[in-house]
Amino acid sequence: MPTWLVTGGAGFIGGNFVLRAVGDGIKVVNLDALTYAGNRDTLAPLDDNPNHVFVHGDIGDRELVAGLLAEHRPDAIVNFAAESHVDRSIDGPAAFIQTNVVGTLALLECARDYWKSLEGEAKENFRFLHVSTDEVYGTLGDTGKFREDTPYAPNSPYSASKAASDHLVRAFHHTYGLPVLTTNCSNNYGPYHFPEKLIPLVIAKALAGEPLPVYGDGKQVRDWLFVTDHCEAIRTVLAGGRVGETYNVGGNSEKQNIEVVKAICALLDQRRPREDGAKRESQITYVADRPGHDRRYAIDASKLRDELGWEPRYSFERGIAETIDWYLDNQAWVQRVLDGSYRLERIGQGA
Ligand code: NAD
Repeated sequence: MPTWLVTGGAGFIGGNFVLRAVGDGIKVVNLDALTYAGNRDTLAPLDDNPNHVFVHGDIGDRELVAGLLAEHRPDAIVNFAAESHVDRSIDGPAAFIQTNVVGTLALLECARDYWKSLEGEAKENFRFLHVSTDEVYGTLGDTGKFREDTPYAPNSPYSASKAASDHLVRAFHHTYGLPVLTTNCSNNYGPYHFPEKLIPLVIAKALAGEPLPVYGDGKQVRDWLFVTDHCEAIRTVLAGGRVGETYNVGGNSEKQNIEVVKAICALLDQRRPREDGAKRESQITYVADRPGHDRRYAIDASKLRDELGWEPRYSFERGIAETIDWYLDNQAWVQRVLDGSYRLERIGQGA
């Protein structure tokens, strides 16, 4: 079984990815800085699993990363580590440049030096997979979809920092020959999603009886992908993607934000009706739009389908129902995020 160095594996997508990979017998060295978005609770099912080695550290720490590569000799690096929330990037872009650009550069340099030290099949088979976003392509009008050859036109500090990291990954292939792969994925949702992002935020506030904030007119369109479909896509690209290529990953599930919020309200009304009998749609509150808010994203994932046979398994309807059930069944996980104890206790233990 292979060994992978996964970065950012205590976050939303990385956590889902690591749980599945270790479940499949892969050894994962999980390097995560445990920013506010990192949550060791997500990884609790792996606490006694010898195939999961958790390392609390920064992708920008060259000495640490080089040491991990020398010690564990991974067959691949999968880079999820990032600052990932657009609103936070508007308030404070510097942290996004530090991790997403400077940090990715350090990781790439360590990966290059490690890869150069390999020989034979180990060198031939090594891969550096960089997980990125469709937001690098900017915004669409009412028609069209992002393809791999769509020009980059990032509009937020977050997407600009991810675009820069994608370019560095590309450059490390062209300049040094590092065997890289890049995936650009649409909006994810599912279990273990930090409740600052639209779907988990709305679920939490809807259950608490609080106003449900919707930006602008709520008609921004996103292409939603269930997180396990994204994890499968990454595994597929890692196994068979052509070195140096980028692959778009999408859910074929375009929805307006307001449609998403209303779908959540309707499902929660069915599963856990409000005590006063009121519909949760009545909690919807329109708030001032996010500055520079992209209007529409849509992904053409036909390259990944045609070359590697990947397609999403989840419709939005199935994915959102499973997501809501997960949040209802895992209120303790949500509560520990909301009250902050997920950070204090784990970090205090020196994790
Ligand atoms: P997340 O914010 O939930 O998790 C990021 C993780 O990275 C956290 O555990 C955090 O502690 C860790 N981290 C941050 N800075 C670090 C550093 N310097 N060193 C090591 N670890 C660090 O993010 P996510 O939603 O799981 O996204 C993961 C990746 O996927 C990101 O690169 C993001 O750009 C990309 N992506 C996300 C989406 C989405 O919808 N969430 C869509 C497409 C692509």
